[in-house]
This record gives sequence, C-alpha cells and structure tokens, in this order.
Amino acid sequence: MVSTTPIPADAGPADVLVVGAGPAGAACGTLLAGAGFRVTVLDRAAFPRDKACSEYMSPEAVRILDRLGVVPALETAGAAPLHGTAVTAAGGARLHGRFALAGHHPYRPTGLSVSRRILDHALVRAAREAGAQVLERNVVEELLYDGGAIAGALVRQADGSRRALRARLTIGADGLRSLVARRMGPRRHGWPRRVAFVAHLDGVAGMSDSAEMHVGSEGYVGLNPIGGGRTNVALVLPAARAAGARGRAEGFFLQGLERFPAVYPRIERSSIARKVLATGPFAAWSGTVVADGGALVGDAADFFDPFTGEGIFSALRGAELLAAAATEALAGPGPITARRLAGYHHARRRAFVGKWAVERLIGYGMCFPRLFDRAVARLGRRGMSHTLIGVTADFVPAREVLNPLFLARMIF
Ligand SMILES: Cc1cc2nc3c(=O)[nH]c(=O)nc-3n(C[C@H](O)[C@H](O)[C@H](O)COP(=O)(O)OP(=O)(O)OC[C@H]3O[C@@H](n4cnc5c(N)ncnc54)[C@H](O)[C@@H]3O)c2cc1C
Repeated sequence: MVSTTPIPADAGPADVLVVGAGPAGAACGTLLAGAGFRVTVLDRAAFPRDKACSEYMSPEAVRILDRLGVVPALETAGAAPLHGTAVTAAGGARLHGRFALAGHHPYRPTGLSVSRRILDHALVRAAREAGAQVLERNVVEELLYDGGAIAGALVRQADGSRRALRARLTIGADGLRSLVARRMGPRRHGWPRRVAFVAHLDGVAGMSDSAEMHVGSEGYVGLNPIGGGRTNVALVLPAARAAGARGRAEGFFLQGLERFPAVYPRIERSSIARKVLATGPFAAWSGTVVADGGALVGDAADFFDPFTGEGIFSALRGAELLAAAATEALAGPGPITARRLAGYHHARRRAFVGKWAVERLIGYGMCFPRLFDRAVARLGRRGMSHTLIGVTADFVPAREVLNPLFLARMIF
C-alpha cells in the first residue's frame, strides 16, 4: 500500500529520520522503532518496487533477515534456497563452492534468492509493524543543519509540497548515489568503474541449485535462480563499454551476453520477464560514516562491486551495528555528536575489514584474466572453493583466505 499521508502539522521532531527504505534503511527503521524511538523512514519510491540487483543472499544475510522476522514471508512468496556459487573464468577454468562444505557451520546450509520487489517490500512492512512511520514517494532534497550539525532534511512530499523534517539523528541509507553521504563529506569513486544491466528471464536452460558467475575478458555475467523457474541475469561491464546502451538497454544487454559462450546458448530460448534495469558505476565509498547528527549505512557508506554478492548482508549488518550505537547515544540527553557514534565506525571496521580485502582481491584479480583463470583452476582442483565461497558468504573468517598459504596455493 502506498502511503501518501502528509506528515501531520503538529508532528514534533522525530528521534531518528532515515533517508531510504532499502534493506539498510528499513532494517534501521525496524530496529530503532523496536527499541522504542520515534522513527520516520522516507523513500522516493513506492513499494513494491524493482531494484537492479542479482538478488542473491548468503546464509548470513538470512540469519539477519530471520532476526528481523521476514524469512517466513519470503519463503511463502517463493524465495529459492541457494546452495552455493559456481565461477567460470574467461579461459574455461571452473570452481563450485557449496556453503555446506565450507568447513564452518553456516546459519543454514542454504542462502536465499528472491526478487528485490518482494524482499524490500517485506522489510518495509516489518519497519511499519515495529512502529516506524514509513513515508513513500517522499524525496529528500537537502539536509537541515543546526549550528553545523545535521538536524533533519528538507523533503518533497508525495503531493509535491515541501516540508522540513527535524530529527536528533539523520541516517543516510539512500544507496549508491546518496545525497546524505555527499553532504557529510568527500565521496570517493574507485577503479574498476563498472556498470550493470539486470533482467529476469524465464526458461534459462541448465540452472541448478547454485548461483553462477561467468567471467569474460571484459566484465562478467551472473545467473541466479530466484524461484518459479525465473533466473536473474546480470551483465556487468566496464563503464566505458556501456556508452552505446543509452535508449536501447535490452538490445545492448542481449548483445553483451553473446560474448559469453557458456551463457548465451542457454538464454536463446528464454523470454524477458522483467525489463532490463541499468545501474552504476559502483566502487563508491565515503570518507566518514558518522557526523554530528548524522550517520551512513549500506551502499551510502560503501559499495565496491556486486561480484561477491554481499551488499544486502552489509546493508543489514551495518544497520544492526548502527542501531546498537544509536540506541546508546539516543538514550542519553543532548545532541548526537560524531563522537557519540564513534563506536559504530569502529564496529564497522571490525566487522567488514576482511570482507573489504577479499572483495577487492577478487575484483582486481578479475582484471587480469590469465591470472584469474589460473587461480580459479587451482581453487577448483584443490578443494579450496568451498572455503572461498564461505568467506564471500561471510560465515568463514576472511583470514582463511587472506593468509600466505592459501594465497600461494591459489597461484602456484
Ligand atoms: C548489479 C548489482 C547486483 C547486485 N547483486 C547483489 C546480490 O546478488 N546480493 C547482494 O547481497 N547484493 C547485491 N548487490 C548490492 C545490493 O543491491 C546493495 O548493496 C543493497 O541494495 C544496498 O542496500 P541499501 O539499503 O544500502 O541501498 P538501496 O537498496 O539502494 O536503497 C536505497 C533507497 O534509498 C532511496 N533513496 C535514494 N535517494 C533518496 C532520496 N533523496 N530521498 C528518498 N529516498 C531516496 C531509494 O529509492 C532506495 O529505495 C548488487 C548491486 C548491483 C548494482
């Protein structure tokens, strides 16, 4: 249901204003409203809405979704269990990592795949049920400040009118091109600059119980079974190669897939069930995730590349870490300063530093196809693929990959 209700004229300042109701923002809304705070969550979109994403979630992401209480709704809506990931390198080397064989107990032996239309809507419903006010078709146009500290946002409401919304804490959960992040400090954009074209296809041949990543000489394709015989197909390319896509995303997408010989014959007889969505470039991160009166979470804080499929997990785990720090800060009187939120900054580093290193190792490694092919072949032959998939699925510690022995066996 679309909420177009204008904010009541007598609404006092909220404790928390969350900009963006994707996984990061909706989870913050659920957790902070559940802790008893007055929370308003705003999104420019009306839910359910689509989102360009490969829609793969690791068992650790499922653990947090379970804590948020949405897993039964996702399973009822047809979410597919996912047993692992197979990677095919440009030269044909292949590995298949399975969660259950990674040597550490995952939360479940399977992850989940489900369309973001279903996932994000379920998370928004959970936020409402926890007591958060969720306002759709409300666009944050600017931040408000009070003595240099963030104090809320100027919002264009669903009816076109504008309104200032004040809050003790403003959370930027507004995704890759976050306005809140740009206002909070420098936003860095790194290499490789990649963009993605994502569609849902019916009737892709030869899909199994695992996601697939096919790496080419330029870019890669992800295939992910999302339930009901439907496959999420994501083509990721260097941004420079996508210049010809403007106004013809579908033709460009299908032509791009032709360059992947292990994929194209399998999609030739399939039909596009949801139009091609384009997004990017990625590899953007913020110099700081806390400021006086504000904090960033999810893609607004950082996002490197979709290859390892960790964005939703990071958004949800980041929300848990931020909610814990914010709960402590909001419980006391006075302004919510960056210093009072510093625990969130440190907790993020502890939680994500290994993941950041592994995703960069893989993301940069892909830019050297012969080396990548060799590494995939070695990992596949030496039974190390399950460990690697367990690390990218966030339940095997990153040090199991980031150690000289593993790295040497991968290359030599
Ligand atoms: C091609 C691709 C494939 C991916 N595949 C996977 C995958 O398989 N698995 C995985 O875990 N991750 C994947 N990711 C990453 C994942 O999509 C993101 O990490 C995740 O969506 C981050 O959640 P979020 O809540 O931070 O941001 P988002 O999901 O982007 O949500 C941000 C919300 O903010 C709203 N918003 C933005 N600006 C404003 C504004 N000014 N005012 C009001 N609202 C605003 C938007 O409408 C949106 O709803 C993929 C990403 C890409 C690009």
